[in-house]
Amino acid sequence: MTTYDFLAIGGGSAGFNAARVAVSLGLKTAIVDGAKELGGLCILRGCMPSKTLLYMAEVLHLAQKGKAFGLKIPRAQADMAAMHARKRKIIGEFADYRLQALNSGKFDLIRAHARFVDPHTLELSNGSRVRANHILIGTGSRVSVPPIPGLAESGCWTSDDVLDLDFVPPSVIVLGGGIVACELAQFLSRIGSRVTLVQRSPNILRDHSPAASAEVQRAFVDEGIELFAGTQLRAVRRDRRGYTIEFQHDGRTFTRRAAHLFNALGREPATASLNLAAAGVDVRPSGQIVTNRWQQTSTPHIYAAGDCSGPAEIVHVAIQQGELAARHAAGVKKLKPVDYSLLLNVVFTDPQLATIGKLQRELEQANVPHLVASYPFNDHGKSILMEANYGYVKVIAEPLRGRILGAEIVGKDAGELIHCFSGPLALRATVFDLLRAPWYHPTLAEIITYPLEEISEIIQKGRYNRPT
Ligand SMILES: Cc1cc2nc3c(=O)[nH]c(=O)nc-3n(C[C@H](O)[C@H](O)[C@H](O)COP(=O)(O)OP(=O)(O)OC[C@H]3O[C@@H](n4cnc5c(N)ncnc54)[C@H](O)[C@@H]3O)c2cc1C
Repeated sequence: MTTYDFLAIGGGSAGFNAARVAVSLGLKTAIVDGAKELGGLCILRGCMPSKTLLYMAEVLHLAQKGKAFGLKIPRAQADMAAMHARKRKIIGEFADYRLQALNSGKFDLIRAHARFVDPHTLELSNGSRVRANHILIGTGSRVSVPPIPGLAESGCWTSDDVLDLDFVPPSVIVLGGGIVACELAQFLSRIGSRVTLVQRSPNILRDHSPAASAEVQRAFVDEGIELFAGTQLRAVRRDRRGYTIEFQHDGRTFTRRAAHLFNALGREPATASLNLAAAGVDVRPSGQIVTNRWQQTSTPHIYAAGDCSGPAEIVHVAIQQGELAARHAAGVKKLKPVDYSLLLNVVFTDPQLATIGKLQRELEQANVPHLVASYPFNDHGKSILMEANYGYVKVIAEPLRGRILGAEIVGKDAGELIHCFSGPLALRATVFDLLRAPWYHPTLAEIITYPLEEISEIIQKGRYNRPT
């Protein structure tokens, strides 16, 4: 039986990057992955296919809005077979690139499912066993199916199916109001489907501020998406013609019918088949593996990273966690844990929604003094000429020295603009530092100077009133 210094279960963002770093630190390393198609969620069925399709739908949307720009573009419409082919080609190339890296020979790649026999030994689906001194669990997540009568047996779509469409579905009911639900609901609507989105919480994108979610919601309604928030889904039925759902909303019972149903109610950690009990690895009631700040589980030589451990199901976090675990396992000194006070989040709807650092709600709840200033895109030159009028930029800063604590942007390319704050936040910069930086005119980015100036004025004039 081979014994490795470091073994990653899963070759996605967390596992692949952990193995890459482990090899670079001289550890004898292996990745075990049981997928038919290697590459991980981000490349195959997550970030990359969704953003490829969303961008194509945005181009279509702009073409359909051509009149607003003084253009005559007759009947711009989706050619789904061509869009599907383009997506497959792009994703195929990304996956090939990852496959080459996985097959580079720098570490062993074992194509099998793994489960623990004891804290150092894994049983593989090919019948063999491997041992490792350090193990990283990077098994990712899978779509969860809540216990709603009729849902599990309905054969409804998941995000995998929506990302693989080669036709325009006439109508789709989207269950859920999280990131995947919202991004793909708008994609479906823009390619020409009639979309109804049904969400349990009072707001879509509930992890974000009510103002941000209201702005995205306004754009959805303007584009013709039927949206119900604050619902309780009672039943799902399927017949020859499609799906019927029944839900409670505002004290009344509603039904909606559509040709297709898309379950976007969330994902759960993919840990059930790992036999974690044999390794003494603890999980939360949510199924997430419990880790400390070095990504160690309750069995210290076993690490976990990415979607299976949380706290944020985001690729760059999975990579940071995986790399940290590998360095820790290799005994690297003076490590720093992942800094979640810099957490960066992007929702690729249009308008996009992006946040970094502390949210205003978190600071209010923790009674942390702060200043907030915001500025709307409908009063900004570059966004006006781009017909990109939804949204705003909001800056949050510490009230005495003006250190940036966080930012929230809703608007065109918010996912790019939020990076104006990444470096400054990591370097603990102040609003005054950012105002010394050059801001080219006319750009979307220069809008940021308005809230920065507002905060700097409050501080300079001593106008901040500390809450009593
Ligand atoms: C539609 C969609 C869009 C998204 N868009 C974004 C985005 O824009 N930006 C962003 O940051 N994040 C996005 N995400 C989230 C992101 O894709 C995930 O957070 C990330 O890919 C998780 O990486 P991971 O390494 O934890 O898991 P994965 O990439 O899922 O890797 C897990 C691997 O483990 C393997 N495995 C599982 N169990 C076993 C086992 N028992 N034995 C062996 N192998 C096993 C699997 O085969 C798989 O290859 C999106 C997700 C979805 C669904």
